[in-house]
Amino acid sequence: MSTPPPQNTGFPHRHLLGIEGLSSTEITLLLDLSDAYVEINRSADKKRNHLSGRTLINLFFETSTRTRTSFELAAKRLGADVINISVSDSAIKKGETLLDTAMTLNAMHADVLVVRHPFSGGVTLLSQKVNCAVINAGDGSHEHPTQALLDAVTIRRRKGRLEGLRVAICGDVAHSRVARSNIHLLNTMGASVRVVGPPTLVPGQIGRLGVEVFHDMRKGIKDCDIVMMLRLQSERMHGAFVPSIREYFHFWGLDYAKLAEAKPDALIMHPGPMNRGVEIDSEVADDMGRSLIREQVEMGVAVRMACLEILTRIRTNGAPVPGPVT
Ligand code: ASP
Repeated sequence: MSTPPPQNTGFPHRHLLGIEGLSSTEITLLLDLSDAYVEINRSADKKRNHLSGRTLINLFFETSTRTRTSFELAAKRLGADVINISVSDSAIKKGETLLDTAMTLNAMHADVLVVRHPFSGGVTLLSQKVNCAVINAGDGSHEHPTQALLDAVTIRRRKGRLEGLRVAICGDVAHSRVARSNIHLLNTMGASVRVVGPPTLVPGQIGRLGVEVFHDMRKGIKDCDIVMMLRLQSERMHGAFVPSIREYFHFWGLDYAKLAEAKPDALIMHPGPMNRGVEIDSEVADDMGRSLIREQVEMGVAVRMACLEILTRIRTNGAPVPGPVT
């Protein structure tokens, strides 16, 4: 049932399931294309027709605000028809299996399926059963590739590069797909990555991914260019991982006192949704000079447009679609 990946696009992958395994050239291609879409999105005429006649289905087994909305906006700006399916109003609630759902959607001839699933590997499994492009919009604590790409575009636009930067990823690393995708991307692009958090929230084997591990927030963010905070993901926790929210903020919450350890021009990121007063102080989050949080959301639309364009640059007859980005 599988169809071949697009040819001659510089991106020889049928799906976008994760950052792991992508080369720096492939990542750069996506980042460059995203940059072009940022400019288009800032102009009055945001519409393009690369996905005209195509259908995108957003299939979300977990809640989402930013990711689902930005995929919808991205697809519509490229001229696609978009259907949103959430578990609460689908047959999945009636007991239909993931694979039966996949077969059903397949029969409707969607061109792109954007899937978020609570289980690591759930999206990959589904991609093996459908004959359209599948984009992983987050699977369990495994990967969230478009988040890492949008983070990278945001950093690159502000700092002019990724290579050589020191990035601290802080907080609930254990339950974070954002952390994993960012680790793969930043390592591939030559940044140096630290993970910072309490031992209960940093997997023991994480060093194998090529990161430095710190269990002290001040030491962990010392001299960093980027401080990326993660949400405390209680929905994935079975048991007590932190003594109390107050203590968590005291030791691991980003406030100005801890931020003073980072480089003077260090920038702050958070994938959202934020828990203000838990992993990040409200004033720090809203600091226009240092916080990139709003910019990350803006980049999300551009990155998703780039991913959709790349994955559909092939017509149904199998011929690659040539032509410029804009
Ligand atoms: N929105 C991101 C995700 O879906 C981060 C988070 O939920 O904390 O993984």
